[in-house]
Amino acid sequence: MSKVIIVCAPSGSGKSTIINSLMPREELHLAFSVSATTRAPRGQEQNGVEYLFMSIPEFRRHVEADDFIEYEEVYANCLYGTLKAQVEKQLAAGQNVVFDVDVHGGMRLKEYFGERALSLFIQPPSIEELRRRLEGRGTDAPEVIQQRLDRAAYELSFAPRFDRVVVNDDLDTAKAEAYKIIQAFIKE
Ligand code: ADP
Ligand code: 5GP
Repeated sequence: MSKVIIVCAPSGSGKSTIINSLMPREELHLAFSVSATTRAPRGQEQNGVEYLFMSIPEFRRHVEADDFIEYEEVYANCLYGTLKAQVEKQLAAGQNVVFDVDVHGGMRLKEYFGERALSLFIQPPSIEELRRRLEGRGTDAPEVIQQRLDRAAYELSFAPRFDRVVVNDDLDTAKAEAYKIIQAFIKE
């Protein structure tokens, strides 16, 4: 049976970098769960690839229709949610689905999928290093970076509730560790 891999981390921890390095590994048969969001596209992001970008009224219509497994206002006016239809299609196709969601979404998805799911927390070495990475990424305005850092300490407090924690200090080590954990889980 195909599996569910839930990856959570404070913004800037290197979660996308690690996930993107694992996606092309054919032996893992991974598919990325494309969430819906009301935030604007960032950098080179494309609709339908990183996210389904939509207006707040459109997002609300999906909420009313009970189309989401879970959704969350992660930042003020920025709603993010996992669409049931999207995930069911990928699982039915035999793919192992990778979720990049906030810690609340992660907890809810773990509850929803149970034993079928592995929850993985990517931990940055420190909040200061997180600031350096967000500034270095150069995709967010200073106030957006501050908003993300303000939330980071809260999100870090969720780490013990995850099945596994990977500290992303040295990137290659973190990638290798995440690979090993996911590969073992898929084989179970
Ligand atoms: P997230 O998806 O968790 O928000 P990203 O993957 O976008 O984070 O990483 C944030 C920034 O930090 C990127 O510029 C990325 O290249 C950099 N980065 C990721 N991992 C490391 C690491 N181990 N050491 C230094 N920089 C890193
Ligand atoms: P970003 O704007 O940096 O892409 O994402 C901000 C936060 O929203 C990240 O923590 C990301 O994991 C989370 N997120 C993305 N999609 C979803 C989703 O479908 N549900 C929930 N709960 N959080 C999400």
